Amino acid sequence: MKLVVQVKLLPTPEQAAALEATLRAVNEAAGHVSRIAFQKGCFRNFDLRKHTYEEIKARFGLAAQAAQHVIKKVCDAYRTLHVNLAAGNLGKPGCARRVKAESKPISFRLQAAQPYDDRCLSWQHGDRTVSIWTIAGRLRGIAFTGSAQQLALLAERRKGESDLVWRDGMWFLHATVEIADVPVAAPDGFLGVDLGIHNLATTSDGARHSGKGLNAVRHRHRQLRRRLQAKATKSAKRLLKRRRRKEARFAADVNHRLAKQIVTEAERTARGIALEDLRGIRDRVRLRKPQRVTLHSWSFHQLGVFIAYKAARAGVAVIHVDPSYTSQQCSRCGHVDKNNRPDQETFACTSCGFAEHADVNAARNIASRGKAGWAVSHAA
Ligand SMILES: [Zn+2]
Repeated sequence: MKLVVQVKLLPTPEQAAALEATLRAVNEAAGHVSRIAFQKGCFRNFDLRKHTYEEIKARFGLAAQAAQHVIKKVCDAYRTLHVNLAAGNLGKPGCARRVKAESKPISFRLQAAQPYDDRCLSWQHGDRTVSIWTIAGRLRGIAFTGSAQQLALLAERRKGESDLVWRDGMWFLHATVEIADVPVAAPDGFLGVDLGIHNLATTSDGARHSGKGLNAVRHRHRQLRRRLQAKATKSAKRLLKRRRRKEARFAADVNHRLAKQIVTEAERTARGIALEDLRGIRDRVRLRKPQRVTLHSWSFHQLGVFIAYKAARAGVAVIHVDPSYTSQQCSRCGHVDKNNRPDQETFACTSCGFAEHADVNAARNIASRGKAGWAVSHAA
């Protein structure tokens, strides 16, 4: 399993200037390659290299590896665009958004992240420094810092490329680490997890994790945005961007803690984890229109990802189930009825009289669907 570990670089002002000039150069080069790719309709790495490799090395002062990474970055960006166009993610042919995307070359922010491989970046874990290629030559001895756990992971498990990232005036390296897979234990039943807005996550055991804190942060952010959007000044935009990042960091922190609690509970009780299929969550987002602003489907997606990798590290089985009618179905007798939900919080079966908190009832349905789904897929 692959994880990304972020470490913060602590460059001197001279080193920082060289890193800044380097990001600018590689992204100017990427913009140049992108324009050539677009003009020639040539998007394959091998072909594009013939047209651009020597030129960008000379013109932007790039080393061989950096030039190859730039070309690859451009190819990857066009591949993503073409996949999105084909999937209709940018609308139907002829619609404004799609025409805009198709009518000009992909552009690259001058501060966009740049991938580095082991030839352009080396790690001295003992000294806690890196040596990195820049257009001002190789910089040695740039200090980095991170949590003790991250540093240990890096020293033992780092493999492959790292991204050089500039954000909010700070420098980071996002390094990839590979962790050995833990064999998945055969689950003794499933812990069902219902995701929602009022309660971020509710388990079939009845544990409800409130979204109060997160919703309050989002609410404050929305109010601030409304005030600031009226004056579209540069400083207002900067402030908004900072707040958005702060909100995202807060949500990620909440999701990490939630995922940890859920996985720990499943591991402790030798159960697997049953989650709703994420496509279902997106459908539900569309249904609940008044609440759409509160609900960030990416946040659910992130929670699902965190649970998946924490579970994989613990050898806990994860299964995704069809989420349709989990909120209307009785978890005791199976009766499905809209009227089983007299209000948002309450589930009361019109057939057998079973009553429970609505989210707990839904989580129990998810747990039993997980059990059934696992039995089917592991019947052999
Ligand atoms: Zn019932």
